[in-house]
Amino acid sequence: MPLLEVRDLTVSFHTTDGLVQAVRGVSFDIDKGHTLGIVGESGSGKTVCTQALLGLTPGADVSGEALFEGRDLLRMRRSQLRAVRGARIAAIFQDPLSSLHPLYRVGWQIIEMIRAHQRVSRPAARARAIELLSLVGIPQAASRVDDYPHQFSGGMRQRAMIAMALALNPDLIIADEPTTALDATVQAQVIELMGRLQEEFDSALIIITHDMGVIAEMADEVLVMYAGKAVEHTDRRTLFYSPHHPYTVGLLESIPGSAGAGERLRPIVGQPPSLISIPSGCAFHPRCRYVMDRCRTEIPPLATVGRDHRSACFLPSLLQGVAGQVEAERRQTALAHGGAP
Ligand code: SF4
Repeated sequence: MPLLEVRDLTVSFHTTDGLVQAVRGVSFDIDKGHTLGIVGESGSGKTVCTQALLGLTPGADVSGEALFEGRDLLRMRRSQLRAVRGARIAAIFQDPLSSLHPLYRVGWQIIEMIRAHQRVSRPAARARAIELLSLVGIPQAASRVDDYPHQFSGGMRQRAMIAMALALNPDLIIADEPTTALDATVQAQVIELMGRLQEEFDSALIIITHDMGVIAEMADEVLVMYAGKAVEHTDRRTLFYSPHHPYTVGLLESIPGSAGAGERLRPIVGQPPSLISIPSGCAFHPRCRYVMDRCRTEIPPLATVGRDHRSACFLPSLLQGVAGQVEAERRQTALAHGGAP
């Protein structure tokens, strides 16, 4: 049984402007020790998807199932969900300052987190906090444990938040754009750290990002989201070597370093749609260079296009022929020298 099974997750919000359909029937599984990357531009619904699992979408209409070890997170009472959140499922967000309280010392916050879920003495929790800070690479952890968040650099705050997330050995970590606010060097260090710790703790990791470079570094499996729907779902290698959905191809083509020498990056034309007025048919059709008549009226199902590979596009095969393979390999080579896979 997978650690987490999400089935037909749908999340919408009523606003004065209309109904925001943030997540529209998304399904995925994740096992212990595995990393699922959820990727898409801003407004694709990827963050709301996982916030709904954590009960962080107050006022939203949420339906579907999210079975965590067989228990439905979406139907738990608040107290039950609170007990699971933190102890069994931990979250790491983009901006550590939004999770670390500026008025409390970093160590105190980790200690309180531990003591809120476990019956341990304060000295034991403090020792664990120091151990965790040291594990995530905070130098002189025994003295820095008493620092306030503003005394840490951005990278150190992110490391502290990872330490806090790991404090209770969670089975599942949800990391939402965990490296977006960091500069490239620190980003690489944090990615390396998260990969190493995940291996050590054997946790499952869901990483939410707009950055295909992060996906290339970390994900075993990838779910690509567009306008609240999953449009492609496969393993990392297939996604980078044999993408099927034109949106995925567009994301790959817009990675810095993916274009060959002398070539220009090809950003995806246009903007993601408002989730209040999603285009008819395939939501990607106004931006798709392969659009056909039926794409404007029919919704393509997420259908099997290869082994463990599903895509929501009417095209029988896009970059999966010989030409596509050559193109994907060229991109892979460029990325290997430029920073991503
Ligand atoms: Fe493009 Fe049509 Fe495929 Fe949508 S279904 S991605 S519009 S080709």
